[in-house]
Parts: sequence; structure tokens; C-alpha cells
Amino acid sequence: MEFSSILLPGIEDKRPFVISGPCSAETEEQVMATAIDLANRGIKVFRAGVWKPRTKPGGFEGVGSPALKWLQRVKRETGMYTAVEVATEKHVYEALKYGVDMLWIGARTTANPFAVQEIADTLRGTDIPVLIKNPVNPDLELWIGALERLYNVGITRLGAIHRGFSSSDKSIYRNMPQWHIPIELQRRFPELPVICDPSHMGGRRDMIFKLSQQAMDLNFYGLIIESHCTPDEAWSDKDQQITPKTLAEILSSLVIREKGQTTEDLSALRQQIDEIDNQMLELLSKRMRVSREIGQYKLEHDMAVLQTRRYDDILTDRARQASRLGMSEEFVVKILEATHEESVRQQLEIMEKAGKNNR
Ligand code: PEP
Ligand code: MN
Repeated sequence: MEFSSILLPGIEDKRPFVISGPCSAETEEQVMATAIDLANRGIKVFRAGVWKPRTKPGGFEGVGSPALKWLQRVKRETGMYTAVEVATEKHVYEALKYGVDMLWIGARTTANPFAVQEIADTLRGTDIPVLIKNPVNPDLELWIGALERLYNVGITRLGAIHRGFSSSDKSIYRNMPQWHIPIELQRRFPELPVICDPSHMGGRRDMIFKLSQQAMDLNFYGLIIESHCTPDEAWSDKDQQITPKTLAEILSSLVIREKGQTTEDLSALRQQIDEIDNQMLELLSKRMRVSREIGQYKLEHDMAVLQTRRYDDILTDRARQASRLGMSEEFVVKILEATHEESVRQQLEIMEKAGKNNR
């Protein structure tokens, strides 16, 4: 896929590209008050949810099409671009009819290929920019699949929004960042603008700054942050919305480090990392060789591949060692589990081959 480098014309190509506005468009007054305040503080793209996907029926499900007229007024009176979430063919028609400048696909929708295809088919022949939020589940291929569906109908102004992944585990996040997933997306598509949504990720006002700074340090292109003229009275997501004033304070406190600046020192350190990685790989392959020898021994003595007690002892012992070496036990257990899995696979291979030879 090749992406157009400009999402919206006339916006300075300087990180972060910022989108802000309320979770939901509630009333004309709330939309206008928030938009005017944001525009006065230099925000160029206004977001508002017009149709809201809610977990349970009966909550505020958005004002629907009438709110699109308020967004037209935002455009006319502040000069800001406008962006809304679309989930169905009807949403797309309505948004285009009212001249919305940018669309985004929400996390629940990205998880459903039928819905994404319906949106893509409706957009064929237009060239509106579209941002695709990650699916609720941590599935990079599903996320890329959604980008491809839009790309295949001719949309090239595409971007991704990382809003975190839902999890049944208790966590400080509303949605877990799992940063390695957007980092891998970025590695595969270096030209794709990736925007972070710290509002839905943290779910709380006091987490927005830290998550935004982390996103900037990871070279994200932009931020989409929910703001509201009176956040405490918001009809949806009130715990995570901030005033335009707080938003401006957060943005001005962010430290934006220049990308791609490799100093001499850094390249020397990177060389060291390369060397250590090589050593690690060699050590791992040595370990596998020994483990294959064990496999051979087990075969000859008619022993089962998996010796649970031994594996348990290894895990407990190494985890204890890990914390003495300043690493988290969790991290070391992960590495050991992956290593053990490969060992077992190699030993099973030995058994299988022997089985075939005996037949
Ligand atoms: C939103 O942006 O208001 C929204 C509903 O987000 P998500 O799709 O990430 O849950
Ligand atoms: Mn929201």
C-alpha cells in the first residue's frame, strides 16, 4: 500500500497532528462553545461523535444526522476541519452530504470485516481521508485488513488510530496500550500516519499527558484527544474529557524529540546491542542443541518429552534470578516459556522422526 502523505491540506507538517473535540455532539451550544475555544487555541481539526456505539442499549446513542448541521456551522464559523465516526452505509452518505472533511472507523466496527467492507464500498469514488481505529482485540492483521479494504476502493489518504485493546484483566488502563502492535504496524508501513488516542486508552483525564508523551517518544504522527466545554456534564465518557484550556496546557508541555537523529554515541551503543543480540541467538541455538541431545536420550530410554516437575523448577529458579538481575520476573518467564516451547517442538520432532523410521 502507498499512502498519501497529506491527510488534510493546509495543516503544518509538524508533530503532533492534533484532532480534538467532544466524545459526542450533544447540543448546538456545547458543540459551538467547545469548537470556538479549541479554534482560538490553534486546534485545526474538530472531532465529534454523531452516532455513538454503546455497550448497552438505553445509553446516549448520539444525536444523529441533526448534529451534522452543527458541524457545518463549526466549519463555517471557525474554519476548522471536521471529523466524525461512521459505522454504516447510511452514516457515510449523511456525513458526505453534510461536507464532513474526515471520517474515522471506530474500534468495534474495525473488528467486523462486513461493516468495514460496507463502508469501503460506499466510499468508492470519493477521496475523503479515513482514519481506522485498531480493532478492540489485539489483532494486527485485522487492523491491516481494514486499511486494505479502504485502500482497495481508492482511498489513499489513510491513517491509523491506536486507542488500545480491551482486556478482561484488571488494569490501570481502560484499553491496554500494547505498544508493540502499533510499532509493528509502523515498521510494516513507514509512511502510514499513526495517531494515538490517549483518551480512550487511559479512560481518565490524569493519564492523558503521560500517554501523549509516550506516543510522541514512540514517534507517533498525531494525537486525538477528547475535549468538552464542561467535561463534568458530558453525556458520554465524562471521566476522560478535558477542557480546551487543559488540552492546550498538555500540548504545550509535551517534549517533541526530533526523529532520526543518530549521534555517534548512539550508533556505538546500537552496535553493542547488535552484538549482544547475536550472542543471544548463538546461545539459544546452543541451548537447543543440548535440548535435542536430551530428546535423543529420552527417546532411547522411553521417557516422555514433557517433564513437568523439571520445567516448574526451571521457571521458579530463573524467575528468582531475574529479579536479582534487575529484570521483571514476568519478562523472564515469558522468554523461558517461549524457549521451552521451541525445545519441546524440537524434541517432538526427534520422536516423530524415530517413529517414522521404525514404521
Ligand atoms: C470515540 O472515539 O468516541 C469512540 C467511540 O472510540 P472507540 O471506537 O475507540 O471506542
Ligand atoms: Mn468517547
